[in-house]
Amino acid sequence: MIGDSKKHLVSTMTERDKLKANLKSSLYSLSIDELVIQAINSYEREIEPMNCPYCKEKTVVSSKEKMVYSISIDNQDYDVRIINYPRNYCKSCNKEFKDHQTTMFLSELIDMEVFRALRYEGEVPKEFDLRKLIVMSGKE
Ligand SMILES: [Zn+2]
Repeated sequence: MIGDSKKHLVSTMTERDKLKANLKSSLYSLSIDELVIQAINSYEREIEPMNCPYCKEKTVVSSKEKMVYSISIDNQDYDVRIINYPRNYCKSCNKEFKDHQTTMFLSELIDMEVFRALRYEGEVPKEFDLRKLIVMSGKE
């Protein structure tokens, strides 16, 4: 392999927590990387109710919906259907509440997976299930 393909995701923790992370990974005969991947993959929870930025009610809820993602590759436009795309909306006023950073990460992930599919399968996929797309595998 040419160059350094290892990317580092830096997390800040105390010496005490670092020791516990090392202990936990060695208890299960996992590397820290494997432990992190398994922990993230099994992490599932409801998003806490938030205050709606529009009507100020504490009713922002999240749902998983279908959406069409448009991407332009070599001056050609493609539509990819995304299922289970997370959407936060207010139950009171029905306005959508988007987190800039989350939206950016979602776009980056979908772009990356479209290019990956193009490279390995030779075509832009018609559909992605975000619930499956978000699962980490440890492979490039
Ligand atoms: Zn609202």
